[in-house]
Amino acid sequence: MTQKSRGGEKIHCSFCGRTPEEVQSIIAGPDVYICDICVSSSVDIIRNNLAAFTARKGSHAGLTPAQIKKALDDYVIGQEHAKKSLAVAVYNHYKRIDEKERLYELDDVEIEKTNVLLIGPTGTGKTLLAQTLAKILDLPFAIADATTLTEAGYVGDDVETILVHLLQNAEYNIEKAERGVVYIDEIDKIARKSDSASITRDVSGEGVQQALLKILEGTVAGVPPKGGRKHPEQSLININTRNILFICGGAFEGLDKIVARRVNLNPMGFGADIKGKKEANADHFLSMVQPEDLIRFGMIPEFVGRVPLVASLHSLGEDALHNILTEPKNAIIKQYKKLFRMEDVDLLFEEPAIKAVVQKAIERGTGARALRSIIEEVMLDIMYHLPERGNVSTCTITKDVILKRKDPIYTYEER
Ligand code: ADP
Repeated sequence: MTQKSRGGEKIHCSFCGRTPEEVQSIIAGPDVYICDICVSSSVDIIRNNLAAFTARKGSHAGLTPAQIKKALDDYVIGQEHAKKSLAVAVYNHYKRIDEKERLYELDDVEIEKTNVLLIGPTGTGKTLLAQTLAKILDLPFAIADATTLTEAGYVGDDVETILVHLLQNAEYNIEKAERGVVYIDEIDKIARKSDSASITRDVSGEGVQQALLKILEGTVAGVPPKGGRKHPEQSLININTRNILFICGGAFEGLDKIVARRVNLNPMGFGADIKGKKEANADHFLSMVQPEDLIRFGMIPEFVGRVPLVASLHSLGEDALHNILTEPKNAIIKQYKKLFRMEDVDLLFEEPAIKAVVQKAIERGTGARALRSIIEEVMLDIMYHLPERGNVSTCTITKDVILKRKDPIYTYEER
């Protein structure tokens, strides 16, 4: 029951004048009252002001490379070198843009673009790095797949469609999209198939690389608002790509051997039979990649020139996979714990169970990508039945749940 008067005086909201009968609740302060309707509209006003403030300020303003790296650490395990390189590249990229905006009239030194190339096995965090970066910097982000692209005149998507998703994710705010981040996956799949370009020209691969050059470098691209192929009668949205940060990624299988040959060593090295040695060797050579190796792999020199920063990611070992399951802010296990918490159940993973997940993931050979699917497979049934199990208080995942599909151990709350 809401109190209707205080000290003989009738209570009403000091902001809108409504009486307790007209609202759900009224909060009293010394000599003032506020009703739930006014609280709710105050919250809206504060939220809007805050949003406008961050949009004006640009939340990336002022983040140093070390701060960017630290924020990446919250989500991406390991890959120290790639994180550091990205942090510096991004810092410089956005600083240049801001600088340019300020000094535009005084100085028109052309700003060179810093696009990034991430090289490393599948499931090691290339997409995650690009995605997290955009999140930290509060920039629109889009992922494109190079294998779906074709050069103009062939069946497939025009390269401009890469920008369609960016525009959508920027809520069709062109200015925002023009400062966004684009991740182009599977860039290695558009390599020329042969080293000897003049003899066997691989149209699809080389043609797409050629088509990508312009948007990587900076051009005003006519984007079909809904994607797909461009039609002559379609109206296009113009997007300037000069300040868009392009991060390209690929596994570049076999590139390690090209590097090894250049540095004149046997790529398998000594002890190739030792478990994990092969990956370690590949990682080692990939960390020494030079532009010439990429050209030998089949990337055209002009493309290599447009991605001045190359960072390699290493394959993830047991420890890294273990950490990925448990450490990041949105770690898979943390996500499931939260889901169970909403049902008032404590979800526990025994250490041997986590180790078993890691082992299974290593067998699948798809990096950290396997972790989620392994956990999802076992959790599906458990979550399906959980709400009907009654008053479960804890659910413990043991090794046998992972390996033998046994039931978890449940404890129940006394009622
Ligand atoms: P790719 O290198 O093939 O682009 P992704 O970044 O898409 O790999 O990673 C696949 C999945 O594995 C994602 O769900 C991501 O969360 C997880 N993952 C991969 N690498 C890492 C890492 N270094 N730290 C944390 N999670 C990772």
